[in-house]
Amino acid sequence: MAQLILDHVTKVFDDNGSDIVAVDDVNIDLEDGEFLVLVGPSGCGKSTTLRMVAGLETVTSGEIRLDDRVINDASPRDRDIAMVFQSYALYPHMTVRENMSFGLEESTDLDGDTISTKVTETAEMLNIGELVDRKPRELSGGQRQRVALGRAIVRDPEVFLMDEPLSNLDAKLRSGMRTELQRLQEDLGVTTMYVTHDQTEAMTMGDRIAILNDGRLQQVATPLEAYHQPANQFVAGFIGDPSMNFFEMEMQGDRLVGQEFAYPLSQQTRESLGDAVRVVLGVRPEDIELVSEASGDHDYETVVDVVEPMGNENNVYLNFTADSDTTFVATIGGMRSVEAGQPAVARFPESAIHLFDAETGEALK
Ligand code: ATP
Repeated sequence: MAQLILDHVTKVFDDNGSDIVAVDDVNIDLEDGEFLVLVGPSGCGKSTTLRMVAGLETVTSGEIRLDDRVINDASPRDRDIAMVFQSYALYPHMTVRENMSFGLEESTDLDGDTISTKVTETAEMLNIGELVDRKPRELSGGQRQRVALGRAIVRDPEVFLMDEPLSNLDAKLRSGMRTELQRLQEDLGVTTMYVTHDQTEAMTMGDRIAILNDGRLQQVATPLEAYHQPANQFVAGFIGDPSMNFFEMEMQGDRLVGQEFAYPLSQQTRESLGDAVRVVLGVRPEDIELVSEASGDHDYETVVDVVEPMGNENNVYLNFTADSDTTFVATIGGMRSVEAGQPAVARFPESAIHLFDAETGEALK
């Protein structure tokens, strides 16, 4: 059993006398064997959170618990946690075998033969069995990455912490390693906290994702929940590519009125808004339909500004009128031909729209 709990964890750095709150009252529970991805923009506090769990950074307030044990003050080596860094942090003068054995020799009393067997088995599992006598400089980026993983795996820890471990790999290798890492984690069943700023990585790898912004936790949810039911406008904009389109609107009678268009609401949706007056309407590019002619309340005449062909689909940038500066994007199938300058009718189905309180950003629908 390895349950990792972050209970009201805060980290304040002192920057020449002024406080920087890098992590602000974060609560996360990782279940035994869970793969949780911590995601958010640069500087939001991901690495600091991970480093506190690893014991590389002190905790200003709150508790980090591994099962029932508070580990705030435990030294990194007493935490039974293995970390994989973005830089791999391999010792250049040691062979792959030595790099993988080193931690075990230092922190356990396993004998040499047992360590050697463990390292060989792990290297085989990671398909680097042939490379154990090489030095890091004689390896490709992908192979180094496997050694760094292998070094964490041989320690048989209760928790893996991974800080952007794939970001130094090229795009193709990265997507292959994503799947492999996921499979490996599932087979090993080790509770894992994985940091990335890449929302695709978060969406495809995590059992759950924890989204951070400005040191504050925005939502902890499965990737699909975060996509379909974002807790707030930040999460809605962060998850999804291209990002969700947002329009500032005002409630007037039974419809939302914005600068460029009005959006009638069903009674059910109106009720979900409560007293909110200033509302942000969000719609994902992939939920906008381009139809041949306007026939309903949620169909809008637009003009195609730019078409970005992506192969299997097109990102179509649209304006409500030729001289409008409100541009939004719709994603449509790649086989459809749409050209810049053409008129198009965009449909925003009510089932697909998201509504947020314009003051707080909290989701209303
Ligand atoms: P990135 O994705 O760019 O690595 P991150 O989400 O991991 O970013 P952190 O490295 O955790 O972000 O940093 C969070 C905030 O804390 C940032 O504002 C950063 O400048 C600040 N910070 C981090 N380490 C220190 C430090 N040792 N002293 C002062 N401020 C720090």
